[in-house]
Amino acid sequence: MKTIGLIGGMSWESTALYYQIINRKIQDTLGGVHSARCILYSVDFAEIAELQHKGDWDALAEKMIFAAQKLQACEADLIILCTNTMHKVASHIEKNIQIPFLHIADATAGEIHKKSFRKVGLLATKFSMEEDFLKSRYRKKYGIETIVPDEKSRNDIHKIIYDELVKGIINRQSKQRFMEIIADLVEQGAEAIVSGCTEIELLINPRDLNVELFETTRIHAEKAVEIALDKSW
Ligand code: GLU
Repeated sequence: MKTIGLIGGMSWESTALYYQIINRKIQDTLGGVHSARCILYSVDFAEIAELQHKGDWDALAEKMIFAAQKLQACEADLIILCTNTMHKVASHIEKNIQIPFLHIADATAGEIHKKSFRKVGLLATKFSMEEDFLKSRYRKKYGIETIVPDEKSRNDIHKIIYDELVKGIINRQSKQRFMEIIADLVEQGAEAIVSGCTEIELLINPRDLNVELFETTRIHAEKAVEIALDKSW
């Protein structure tokens, strides 16, 4: 089994979910009392959120490179970054490490492709919904078109993520708001929905919807396990 290096803490609520999914999948696959070989580098999300909202992505890239290099030095065999938003600096990380980096959009697009969906609704932070770093990867590399909610809905989603979900607050009204936004996206032609923020899975799950939900945390974590158990690698 390979060792998975996780850059986490963004937020710790979703990193806890990664840890659980990774270990569960290892146990289901190998049986007995097997658990994952993994190393977690967890940051203080307050510092990260402040830099994001100031727009200091150079400082954020430095922090992510530092974390990735520490994981590499501790002999992680591959790295996953446990947040969609911070993939804005993914290329900087990749250039500064010598071990594989599993991009969250590549893992997710692989699953969307298997089901042959071409147009998906993207729910995420404003950074991920309004900028192109994830949307262009889905489009250019996989031919998957992403549609995003209107401005008011994007603001509501962003607020729910940063004011509630990253603090572990699960609110029934917020869930209702997400359901309305999803219904709008489906009406606009979304064939499926991507929960493109690693905390959204804490609020909504596939059973809540009558369209397919692609959960980036689950998909990313399970793909990392697949790679970690791949003997040919
Ligand atoms: N975990 C979130 C994401 O997947 C948001 C927190 C962050 O900005 O990193 O985008």
